[in-house]
Amino acid sequence: MSENCLFCKIVRGEIPCRKIYEDDELLAFHDINPVAPVHFMLVPKLHLASLMVAEDSHAALLGRMLLLGAKLAQEQGLENGFRTVINTGKGGGQEVFHLHIHIIGGGNIPPMVKRS
Ligand code: 5GP
Ligand code: ZN
Repeated sequence: MSENCLFCKIVRGEIPCRKIYEDDELLAFHDINPVAPVHFMLVPKLHLASLMVAEDSHAALLGRMLLLGAKLAQEQGLENGFRTVINTGKGGGQEVFHLHIHIIGGGNIPPMVKRS
């Protein structure tokens, strides 16, 4: 746990969220500022600042996140597919420094990278 981390505060229930799923290790909740009709976040309860500090010992946790993300995406109505995004570090556009997977879908999902 990290005292001042926003997502740790959500995990601890100090900041409310629209929860989708919770177990001993993981929490999923809707993004406060969605970019698509469905946009939720999957976070480990363990504070890991980003994917860059993940270690071999976190392999099972990371695997669980991906598998659960796919299951929850379908439960949220994204049977046709979805986008998974992990922004990592300042260079990857990360704003909240607690590892999270964005699950995004519904409506028109544009190509992720625009080519001119
Ligand atoms: P990042 O840019 O770090 O990958 O994504 C951070 C995400 O957290 C953003 O999509 C932003 O909308 C979301 N976010 C920021 N503050 C809150 C909050 O208090 N509650 C929820 N549910 N999402 C938040
Ligand atoms: Zn945290």
